[in-house]
Amino acid sequence: MKNCPACKSGSIKSFFKSRDYFLSKEEFLVEECNECGLRFTNPRPGFSEILKYYDSADYISHDSSRKGLLTWIYTNARNYMLNKKFNIVSACSKGKHILDIGCGTGEFLNICKSRGFESYGVELNEKPREAAIQNYGLEIKKSLDDYLLEDAKFDCITLWHVLEHIHDLGNTMHMVKQLLKPEGSLIIALPNSSSWDAVHYGQFWAAYDLPRHLYHFNKSSFAKFAGIHKLKIIKILPQVLDSFYISLLSEKYRTGKNNFLKAFLNGAISNFYARKQGNAYSSLIYILHA
Ligand SMILES: [Zn+2]
Repeated sequence: MKNCPACKSGSIKSFFKSRDYFLSKEEFLVEECNECGLRFTNPRPGFSEILKYYDSADYISHDSSRKGLLTWIYTNARNYMLNKKFNIVSACSKGKHILDIGCGTGEFLNICKSRGFESYGVELNEKPREAAIQNYGLEIKKSLDDYLLEDAKFDCITLWHVLEHIHDLGNTMHMVKQLLKPEGSLIIALPNSSSWDAVHYGQFWAAYDLPRHLYHFNKSSFAKFAGIHKLKIIKILPQVLDSFYISLLSEKYRTGKNNFLKAFLNGAISNFYARKQGNAYSSLIYILHA
């Protein structure tokens, strides 16, 4: 890409090089836009080419059958987060029509459904999509176009750590805005590449997750991105558990070992500075209105 995927500026520079520590071990370059500050993986695998980088039973956001301590921690943290997420949605949503984009195997939507929300999802990948339909009887479509064709409108649209995976950023935001009711809330959760743990781990920071993460937002670049799409940030909330999980993975990438104690300490330090510096957490949840 010769231009920034968010603001289209041609003024971009190298930020750093890192690897896909999770799977392929291939090296990738992250660049930074001089205009809006967005960091993005460039060059990046194309839309169909990138599928092979997800091709692992370890990519646990799509698989809940694996065992092991990391998965145990992840599963418990996820259950805690599912409740947190529902409370956020419930607090900021004026009605009960929710669309979760990149809903994976549907655990979050199932919670929403069981608590009285009319719950819909989008999941591109067939395996998790079918699991969500089979396991929870949810209505999940393959793409946003399917909802646009039905002229559907939602009180709340959520993208929990999904936006950073989407190739066609501009078109996706355009479609999301069309699907949102005039007073609807858009909720976008993202890693924060300016958090203490991101700076501490540098190229080993697990939330760079190259090349699966195509963009590496921080609060400032996300605020500009929201402005480009004429969206107002109403509130920013922390995801306090992410610093621990990300530190655990980052320690593994850096040393090849599970340093639980060190990861726990660094997660706590990250949250300490995040609170002190005003919402500089490892992951942030943005609540937006059109
Ligand atoms: Zn830009």
